[in-house]
Amino acid sequence: MSHPVNFDQKIADLEAELLEVREAKEAFGALSDDRQLAISLHEILCHWNHTDGCSWHYEMDNGKHRWDNQAHSSYLKKAQAMIKQLKIYRSRI
Ligand SMILES: [Zn+2]
Repeated sequence: MSHPVNFDQKIADLEAELLEVREAKEAFGALSDDRQLAISLHEILCHWNHTDGCSWHYEMDNGKHRWDNQAHSSYLKKAQAMIKQLKIYRSRI
């Protein structure tokens, strides 16, 4: 009699997901500060469907961001403007 829960399959699925999250974390950490901030700004500010609404997901190739595309370049410009303002602010204190 087999158990209704396939423990080995569940463990394999979770291990695969864990690997995926670790790789995503490493790829994020390898990005420049302005690109990391652009991704965070998109997650915080964009309330569209990211495929048909803002096109962010259309601008991805196998997990790689295409920064010269419209949605990505728009958020990258916002991030760079924020970093520039922060540097100006810091230089005054
Ligand atoms: Zn979006």
